[in-house]
Amino acid sequence: MSIRELPDFLIDQIAAGEVVERPASVVKELIENALDAGSSQIIIDVTDGGRTMISVIDNGSGMSRDDLLKSIKRHATSKLPDDNLLNISFMGFRGEALPSIASVSDMTIDTYNGIDSHGWFLDCNIMSIKPSSWESGTRIRVLNLFGKTPARLKFLRTDRSEMISVVDVVKRLAMARPDVGFTLNNRWRFPRGQTLSERIISIMGEEARDRMLTIDNVSNSSGVLSLRGFISEPTFRRASSVDQYLFVNNRPVKDKVLVGALRAAYMDVMHAREFPLCALYLDLDPKSVDVNVSPAKTEVHFLEPARVRGFIIRTLRDNISKTMVDFGNHEIERFQHSEPEQSSFLMSFKDNFLSVHNDRPTFFGVYDKSENIENKNDNMPYTRPLGRVIGQYSNKYIIAESEQGFVIVDQHAAHERIIYEKLRTHSIKVQPLLTPIVVNMKPEEVSAILEIKDDIKSCGLTLDQFGDDAIAIFEKPADWDLNWKKLLHDISDEVSENGHSSQLHEKLHLKLANYACHHSVRAGQRLDWVQMDKLLRDIENTERAGQCNHGRPVYKIIKISEIDTWFERI
Ligand code: ADP
Ligand code: MG
Repeated sequence: MSIRELPDFLIDQIAAGEVVERPASVVKELIENALDAGSSQIIIDVTDGGRTMISVIDNGSGMSRDDLLKSIKRHATSKLPDDNLLNISFMGFRGEALPSIASVSDMTIDTYNGIDSHGWFLDCNIMSIKPSSWESGTRIRVLNLFGKTPARLKFLRTDRSEMISVVDVVKRLAMARPDVGFTLNNRWRFPRGQTLSERIISIMGEEARDRMLTIDNVSNSSGVLSLRGFISEPTFRRASSVDQYLFVNNRPVKDKVLVGALRAAYMDVMHAREFPLCALYLDLDPKSVDVNVSPAKTEVHFLEPARVRGFIIRTLRDNISKTMVDFGNHEIERFQHSEPEQSSFLMSFKDNFLSVHNDRPTFFGVYDKSENIENKNDNMPYTRPLGRVIGQYSNKYIIAESEQGFVIVDQHAAHERIIYEKLRTHSIKVQPLLTPIVVNMKPEEVSAILEIKDDIKSCGLTLDQFGDDAIAIFEKPADWDLNWKKLLHDISDEVSENGHSSQLHEKLHLKLANYACHHSVRAGQRLDWVQMDKLLRDIENTERAGQCNHGRPVYKIIKISEIDTWFERI
C-alpha cells in the first residue's frame, strides 16, 4: 500500500482524540482561551453533561474577521509571538483546541473585537462567515459533541458524572484566577474581583474560613522556587483529593511530584486515607519546568523534581507545626521542664505510664470529695498552655484549666502523639546482617536506588552496589522484616518516575504509628494526678501536638468568653 497524506479533517479528528477527551476538556480549553483574551467575566452553560451543548461567553478582546477564520486552523495561535516554547505566558499556545473541537462537534463562534464596525459569526461546519450583531467579547457554542465520532461518544460516562468533571475544571480555573468572575449553569457563581481567601471559601465552603493556614510567599534559599497559598489544618480534611488545588506558574496541574510532597508533609498528622485541602501555588522559572508534556497541559515535568519536592515538604511542615497552637510564652517554661534523656525515653514512659497496667492507680475524680482538690493541683502551673489538671472525665479525658480557658485532652490521642514524635526523632536501631541480602536488578534500577542511597539509609537500611546488576543490603532496621526485594524494585520504579521515593518513609511511618498506638495509655484507663500532669507537660513539649498521628484532635480549649456566653453573662 502506498503512503498517502491524510486529509485535514482526519488529522484534526486524530488530534482531537488527545485534546478533547470529554466535555470537561472542551470547557477547560474554552475557558483558557477566554482568560488568555483578557476576560474578567466568563459565563459557562452546559446541558446533558456537555453532550448536547456547551456554551462559553466571555468579555475579552474578541477577534477580527481574519483572526476568526485563522482561529480554527491547526497550529494557528496568537500566543507564541517569538517562537520560544520556553517563554509561555498564556494558558494556551498549541493552537490545537479550536480546530480539534470543531472537528468533533457542531461549533459556532460569535465575536466582536470592539474595533470593526460590527461583529462576526462563524459556523465551523459549513465554514460560513457572516456579519453579526454580537456586541462584545466572544461566545463559542459546541453542539453535539462527538456526534461525528460515535466511538468516542460511547466512552462518555453518565451525564451526571461528566458534569462533575465539568464543575471540577471550572473550580480549578476559578481558583487560578480569583479576580475573574465565573458562572456555571447559573448555579455555581464565583463573583469577579474576589480575593484568594474569598474564592477559597466560595469553593471549599464556610468551614474553610477559620481552618486554613496561610503560606506567605516563601522562597527557597536560591530564590528559584516560591510557594504561596493556603493549606488546611490537619483536623480539617476530606475523604478524597477533590479540594486539593495545585498550580504551577498559575496553571492548574495534577502533578505526582506535588501531590506526593503534599502527602508527605501531612504524613505524621493525617491518616493516609484522608486528604488535606489546599490551594497551593508554586512559582518557578519557566525554564525549569516543561508544561508541554501532554495536550491537556495538566502534567508537568520538573527539571529538578527532588528539589521541588524537598522545598514543598519543608515549607508545609514548617507551617503545619508553627500554626498548630499558640503556646504563648511557653519558651521560658520549656527550659524549666527537663526533657527525659532520648535514650531512656521508653524507660521513662514505662515508669510513668505503662505501670498503670500493673498497679491500679488511685482515682482522683472531680467529684472525689474525700480529697482536697485544691491541694492537689495548687502548685500545678496555671500559666502553662494546657494549664493545671482539674480531673479526669469518663476515664478518657483529662480536664484542665488554663489562662486561655477550659482544656479537654484526649488522653490516648495525646500519649500516642508523644510516643510517635519521640520515636520519630529517635535514631533507628539497625541490625547488621551476617550474610548480606543480594537483590538482582537491572543496571538502570541499580543506579536509581543508588541515587537515593542516603535517604534510604536514614530509614535504617544500609545498602550498596553489588556489581552492575545487583544491590546488597548490609544492615536493616532491627525487628523489621519486609519483602526487601519487592521494596527495592518499587523504590526504583518510583525514583525513575519522580526522582524520589517515599515508600520506605511511608512504611516506617506506619510502623511507628502502629507502635505508638499500641503502646499508649488507652481510653478507659484511670490516671493519677502526676500522670495527668506529666501527660499535659509532655504534650506541650511535643512538636505538632495538636493532632494524634491519625489526625484526630488531641485537645480542645474552650475559651472562658464562650462559656460566659452560654450562661448569658455578657
Ligand atoms: P491556542 O489557545 O493554543 O492559541 P486555540 O485553538 O485554543 O489555540 O485558539 C486559537 C486562537 O484563537 C487563539 O490563539 C486566539 O488568538 C483565538 N481565540 C480563541 N478563543 C478566543 C476567545 N475566546 N477570545 C479571543 N480570541 C480567541
Ligand atoms: Mg487555547
